[in-house]
Amino acid sequence: MRIDVAALEAGQVIRAALSETIDSLTEDVTFDVPVAGEVEISRDPTTVRLRGTLETSTPLSCGRCLTPLRLPLRAYLREEFLVYAGGKAGGAEQPELKTEDFIHPLGPDLILDVTEVVRQQLLLALPMIPLCRPDCRGLCPQCGANWNETTCSHQVPDIDPRLEPLLKLRDRLPEE
Ligand SMILES: [Zn+2]
Ligand SMILES: [Zn+2]
Repeated sequence: MRIDVAALEAGQVIRAALSETIDSLTEDVTFDVPVAGEVEISRDPTTVRLRGTLETSTPLSCGRCLTPLRLPLRAYLREEFLVYAGGKAGGAEQPELKTEDFIHPLGPDLILDVTEVVRQQLLLALPMIPLCRPDCRGLCPQCGANWNETTCSHQVPDIDPRLEPLLKLRDRLPEE
């Protein structure tokens, strides 16, 4: 979705449903269903505001046990774009920007590429380490057993920290 900001009048608000197949342009990341949701675009003389919530999903592997999973992704859009027109913002005075304002300049063509904003926000919504479930136990680093499904002899039981010095002592004793 691309919006011609020059065609919007100050005070105008557009609400639109979006449903679009979006290329993540990122290796290993696919948005596997069309990105869908509502967007609201509003314009005043100097800025364009973009609001919306959009959803899709992405196939990934669990970061601990490598099980394939399909992760729902949601992008929350709360963006502001400064409209430049011939060096002046819409013919009006440039607004004073406060440091907390997160405002992107809009290119000279005054096209707001909603798809690109959504693409970036969806990528930001990806977790650093996706997990199949919050308490995923992962794979055994020695034999590769999936500790969610099975146990193996390498598994260390949860140890009471107060007993740890004793266990260290035991490890130092020669094996019987
Ligand atoms: Zn897992
Ligand atoms: Zn093992």
